[in-house]
Amino acid sequence: MTNFDYDLFVIGAGSGGVRAARIAATHGARVGIAEEFRYGGTCVIRGCVPKKLFVYASKFTEEFANADGYGWSLNGTPSFDFDTLVENKDKEITRLEGIYRRNLDKSGVELHDSRAVIEGPNTVRLLSTNQVITAERILVAVGATPNVDAGLVGCEHTITSNEAFHLSTFPKRIVVVGGGYIAVEFAGIFNGLGSETTLLYRGEEILRGFDMDLRTGLHEQMVEKGINVKTKSTIASIEKHEGGLTVTTHAGEVIEADQVLYAIGRRPNTAGLGLEEAGVELDKAGAIVVSPQSQSSVPSIFAVGDVTNRANLTPVAIREGHAFADSVYGNKEWHVDHSMIPTAVFSQPEIGTAGLTQEEAESRFDNIDVYTSSFRPMKNTLSGKPGKMFLKMLVDADTDKILGIHIMGPDSGELIQMIGVTLVMGATKADYDRTIAVHPTAAEELVTMREPSQRIRKG
Ligand code: NDP
Repeated sequence: MTNFDYDLFVIGAGSGGVRAARIAATHGARVGIAEEFRYGGTCVIRGCVPKKLFVYASKFTEEFANADGYGWSLNGTPSFDFDTLVENKDKEITRLEGIYRRNLDKSGVELHDSRAVIEGPNTVRLLSTNQVITAERILVAVGATPNVDAGLVGCEHTITSNEAFHLSTFPKRIVVVGGGYIAVEFAGIFNGLGSETTLLYRGEEILRGFDMDLRTGLHEQMVEKGINVKTKSTIASIEKHEGGLTVTTHAGEVIEADQVLYAIGRRPNTAGLGLEEAGVELDKAGAIVVSPQSQSSVPSIFAVGDVTNRANLTPVAIREGHAFADSVYGNKEWHVDHSMIPTAVFSQPEIGTAGLTQEEAESRFDNIDVYTSSFRPMKNTLSGKPGKMFLKMLVDADTDKILGIHIMGPDSGELIQMIGVTLVMGATKADYDRTIAVHPTAAEELVTMREPSQRIRKG
């Protein structure tokens, strides 16, 4: 028993903070947590969860359009009510938030609905009550916040993903800026819901960092679905007028829109938290610099999740929080391996990716076999719906080890989760070859790939 109010005080009740708090409490620690907004954090309140609900909503348009190929006729034109979607989504988020609060409570964690700032290595002030709390350790899990382009003329007329979940009017025309996860996902959502959608990306090709075949393939299919994708394009100004917004690009192009959604990355939420004053080292991006054990430069202060800017994904934050709590309070030392993180982009079509991209594999390995398969998903045959399923496997030709798998098409997110397990286990091409196919599925292509489409050899 220490003389501190708590053994652990967690700032931020998002994915990473909640996991750390609950696991630490389960190991017997006296834990308090502070949250200034809503329990569940970005993922639950205004990120992954509402996003995926919106993705589901946006896919009905295609389903309706293709139902007749399967013999269905819809009497009358289906109509969409954005307010109903937002209202039902809000109910679900409120339900989930309640679960987060109850689970913390059941684990014995004390909840404080307040912004907390750090006043020293073991001291936190709750701003709602001005209460000063002491803790043997402090865990910072405050996440990140969307970037805005503050220098842009008309920046005040833009929204970010935060606001996109609560629009009072459905935008008939939307411009989405960015080429990362959030931009491509929201472009797909608004396009599917019926907005005239333009995606403006500053670079050569969307989704920098992903395998090039996925990048170009997604670009093509987004265009096929009706999204106006413009690369090498940036906004010079946005003007508001009675009928909406006039967006002018640096190339002089003019686009009329009802909303302009900026998805240009996120920055760690460290401003005004008292970290620098307490001696915590931050990097250039404002992220907390931590050891593999998530310990900051102040030994009693730890940090997990997006605030550390390691791999900004919910499941990674959860793992980091769990590893911290087990290591410090559970007598079970481990840390997160950030080298192999399977991930999905809920674009339309969906993307799943695990391991190295072809570009990365070529730079690290001498001899690589590339297997690819591209075909029309079976569901699209009767409906005549366009779109392709794409699968790619990269194999080290010297060891037969699979270096990366990249897929695009229906349910890629579901598939890549299990593919990720095989890659973490060190699967070889021979392992896939001796696995009997499940028929008829799209994934069976991965166990029936015979001839490489490319054999890349050193020299
Ligand atoms: P990303 O880092 O994925 O992408 C940011 C995009 O904005 C890039 O295309 C970047 O271009 C562009 N950009 C950056 N600065 C500017 C600027 N000043 N003007 C114009 N364009 C700019 O960030 P997101 O906002 O899409 O997502 C944030 C994080 O959220 C991601 O790191 C991701 O990990 C996470 N996330 C994960 C999801 C999932 O797992 N499915 C879903 C949603 C979010 P360039 O490529 O040239 O740098």
